[in-house]
Amino acid sequence: MTLESTVVPRTPVVPVLRESFAQGITCPLSWRLGQLRALKRLLEENSAAIEDALFADLGKNPAESQLTEVGVVLSEIEHTLSRLKSWLRPKRVAVPLGLAPASASTMLEPLGVVLVIAPWNYPLQLLLGPVVGAIAAGNAVLLKPSELAPATSALLAELVPLHLDQRAVAVIEGGVDITTELLAERFDHIFYTGNGTVGRIVMKAAAEHLTPVTLELGGKSPVYVDDTVDLSAAARRIAWGKFMNAGQTCVAPDYLLATREVAEQLAPHLVQAIAELYDGDPRTSSSYGRIINDRHFERLTGLLRGEKVITGGRSDTRTRYLAPTVLGDVARDAPVMQQEIFGPILPIVEVTGLDDAIRFIRSGEKPLALYAFTSSRQAAKRILTETSSGAVGFGIPVAHLSVPGLPFGGVGESGMGAYHGRRSVETFSHEKAVLHKRLAPDTMRLVYPPFTEKKDGF
Ligand code: NAD
Repeated sequence: MTLESTVVPRTPVVPVLRESFAQGITCPLSWRLGQLRALKRLLEENSAAIEDALFADLGKNPAESQLTEVGVVLSEIEHTLSRLKSWLRPKRVAVPLGLAPASASTMLEPLGVVLVIAPWNYPLQLLLGPVVGAIAAGNAVLLKPSELAPATSALLAELVPLHLDQRAVAVIEGGVDITTELLAERFDHIFYTGNGTVGRIVMKAAAEHLTPVTLELGGKSPVYVDDTVDLSAAARRIAWGKFMNAGQTCVAPDYLLATREVAEQLAPHLVQAIAELYDGDPRTSSSYGRIINDRHFERLTGLLRGEKVITGGRSDTRTRYLAPTVLGDVARDAPVMQQEIFGPILPIVEVTGLDDAIRFIRSGEKPLALYAFTSSRQAAKRILTETSSGAVGFGIPVAHLSVPGLPFGGVGESGMGAYHGRRSVETFSHEKAVLHKRLAPDTMRLVYPPFTEKKDGF
């Protein structure tokens, strides 16, 4: 049985994957490890084509593509290859005394056919990263790349069938109409990364089939800075995390909270950090990306209207260049504070101190990430215990996603479920409960009816 993902009509794809899963093709550890190695080869052997596609879609510098797209998936593969066998070992759990002698354990079993829907901002990492977990867990997988990153989508639709087992791994390209058609099908898990509006559409469609979902969504991730840290070092880290991929990163710091004094001292450091990161001129620097499309470009430049620009603000419609921009003294109800920015604009919102910052963060939706630059242990503890977010980064934004041992995911409006490393395998598995009890001696006599005499129970 073969499947040419680029030519086979859409509807037969899911039954083919289902049949392959039913035949048990995807279950053996050897198949899973073989597919992960094949995926590794796909990335290593097509390095130049991948860099070109990401440059065409997002103007990404090849080094940035290697670091934030290919490298993240490769390290996920390496991490999984060396640990998968032990992750899949059944885990023993204690049995209550009343049930002894008996043994209980849990085992991970694959779910079936998994759909992975990816967004455009890290179009390779956010498609193939979840696929690592889906394959490692022993599932058949259907990949739906984002139509808004067409070069990467086309390249992966070409490469995946060449490298991976076409019976069990397929790619379907397309936009809303095709995704809508796909969502009418029955899957055993849907893994969606993107905005919350579509997240709701995905979850509704999944509910029809009682399909579990993982929703990796976004939101406004705050960064809090106080006066106990080296502001120059903090500015470099913040500018790096914010302006990578031209701000189009789900876990980029969205806005900055600081007291007026800290904001005033930090601003020149941010200006200097931007100059250092982008060779003095982001417009001509090959290290700085572009906005994905005209719609997002218009939206972003619209957010600048009426705001106090500390640095940046300049744009070029033709090339969709928007300078790394810092806005000062932004009102809490300004348009730029009403939506996830998802672009290279960093508003600074002044707070009176940590209490005010925490109150403000808590007044909004739960963010995907929260960052703090403080050397006060007391402040750090309060941030951890008094706010809720998908993750917290002290002293560094974004990088938590590169730690395979940390679950990556949101909470509330920023998503549900998590992945990376072992958590990915668990996400794409069912944890089955198994109990063994010998028939003799029959200790169950103690709980059998009739209940005419006193029974001890379990
Ligand atoms: P997008 O427009 O590429 O959409 C994501 C996917 O949804 C695409 O594959 C697209 O085809 C599909 N889609 C779009 N409209 C649809 C519809 N009506 N019905 C069915 N499917 C549809 O990407 P986006 O949503 O603009 O991505 C940006 C958002 O994603 C931001 O909010 C960002 O924070 C979030 N994000 C989250 C993470 C994370 O890991 N949590 C990572 C990246 C991006």
